[in-house]
Formats: sequence, C-alpha cells, structure tokens
Amino acid sequence: MEYAIRMKPGGSRRLEDIDPDSHGGLSREEAARLTEHLGERVADLADLLFAASKHSLLVVIQGRDTAGKDGIIRRLLGYVNAQSCRVVPFKTPTTPELEHDFLWRVHVHAPARGDIALFNRSHYEDVLVVRVRKLVPKAVWERRYDHINAFENLLLDSDTLIVKMMLHISKDEQKERLLDREREPEKAWKLNLGDWKEREYWDSYTEAYNEVFRRCSTERAPWYVIPSNHKWFRDLAALECIAATLEPHRSAWMEYLSDLGAARRSEIEAFRDAHRTV
Ligand code: AMP
Ligand code: MG
Repeated sequence: MEYAIRMKPGGSRRLEDIDPDSHGGLSREEAARLTEHLGERVADLADLLFAASKHSLLVVIQGRDTAGKDGIIRRLLGYVNAQSCRVVPFKTPTTPELEHDFLWRVHVHAPARGDIALFNRSHYEDVLVVRVRKLVPKAVWERRYDHINAFENLLLDSDTLIVKMMLHISKDEQKERLLDREREPEKAWKLNLGDWKEREYWDSYTEAYNEVFRRCSTERAPWYVIPSNHKWFRDLAALECIAATLEPHRSAWMEYLSDLGAARRSEIEAFRDAHRTV
C-alpha cells in the first residue's frame, strides 16, 4: 500500500497523526497518470469479479461532511459495470428501521456474488454519529463493535470481499468546502446547517473513528485511511485499496473462467457433432 494508510488490526495509529494533506510526493499530473492506469486495472478486475461470480465486493465509504464520499462514488462508477453495481446511501434511520436491530437495514443491501455495493455511510454510523451525539446509551453502542465484526465475518465467510475507507480531510479544508457550497449555486442543494453543527463535534468524531479503527480494523477486512484534502490523490488512494483487495483473486477467477469455457465448448461441440450442424 503506497498511498492509502492501512490501519493495523489492534494498532495504535491515530487519525490525528495522519496528514490529510499528504499526496505521496506526487504532482497532480503524475497522480492523474497513475490513476488512469489503476483505473484500468480496477475495471478489468471488476469485469472478472462479475464474470466469475465467485465473490461479491462491498465498499464501505465513511468520512466527515464534505470529505468527498459522493465524489469518490461518482469516480468509482466510471470503472464498473452499472448492471452489477449498486450505490446505497445510509441516512438517518426511519422509524421502522429504528424498531429493528441496527444491522437489519444494512444486511439486505449486502451484494450478491458477482455484484458490487458502494455504501455511502454504513453500519459504522451506529458507532459514530450515534456515539458522538449520544443517540443511544453507551451500554448499547459499546456492544456494537462486536456485532459489526461478527456481521462482517459472516459476509466474508460468504465470499464477500470488504474494503472500508475513511476519507480524511482537515478541519480547515472542511471549512473551505462548506463555504464553497454557499458561493456556488449548483452546490446550494448540499447546504445543510447540520454540517456546521456536526463540525462542533470534530474531536469527538476523531475519537470515535479511532475506536472504530482499533476495534474493527481486522486482517480480513482492514480499514484504510485515505488522505483526502487533494481530490486527485484521494481518487488514486481509493483505487489502490480496491485493486489490492481484488488482485489476489485474479488468477483463481481466470482459472475458473478458463475451465468454464472448456466445459461449455465441449458441450457445444458434442451438440454440433450429434446434430451434424456447423
Ligand atoms: P448525508 O450523507 O449528508 O446525506 O447525511 C446523512 C445523515 O444521516 C448524516 O448526518 C448521518 O450522520 C445520518 N445518519 C446515517 N446513519 C445514521 C444512523 N445510523 N443514526 C443516526 N444518523 C445517521
Ligand atoms: Mg451531508
């Protein structure tokens, strides 16, 4: 991993020690070239994921307001087949959702084999905003880390590959982006008093994210922090995480497809022989 930061399971690395401004020493032009190259690799791997249909891919995207969750999703959609990819935004839970366990509304959107799901926010909100804004008692959210790990293990055991990324911006960058939204009419729809209110809890969110990394970054489903002050670097680092997650399966998918091709060809040949058709 060159650009994204993999949070070691049980590690002590903290969000406040990671520079959101970091750009891997690359210029914008260099990053653009690398992004194009990585994008082609991801597109190729996504096609194989679909063709082999042996695994599904779940991409969890978290980050503070304005961190670029919508932006990275738009970007990723450029590399995947729209028929097999779904974007799932998680908003404030509805009343029926609140009357179930917190994973009820999430599990139903887990991707089927061959498919990709991009989660814009996720089950992690239930230990982020819920914890920071004290929406349920501590005794309730405290148990959720274990529930989340068990849930993700269930998905992993069912051949779902999981990429979890936190888009990391600085407080100054957030301010700039919020003010930008006020200046640009086409961004007016994004204006939200709630974003300024959440900003007041900056440090509590930092602490809540650190707890997520400490308890829910696992060997099989690690958390990645993506320095996101520079959008061009964010895109590169996010693609890197996805490529790194899919790449180890490439040869097995290719092998499966080649066996499948051989089996189907001989079936077709046998049919042609029997029916004397060409
Ligand atoms: P946005 O992503 O900007 O459309 O906003 C969605 C809002 O829903 C954010 O303020 C989230 O914090 C909030 N949200 C998402 N999931 C939950 C949850 N489980 N509990 C409470 N609020 C949530
Ligand atoms: Mg928002």
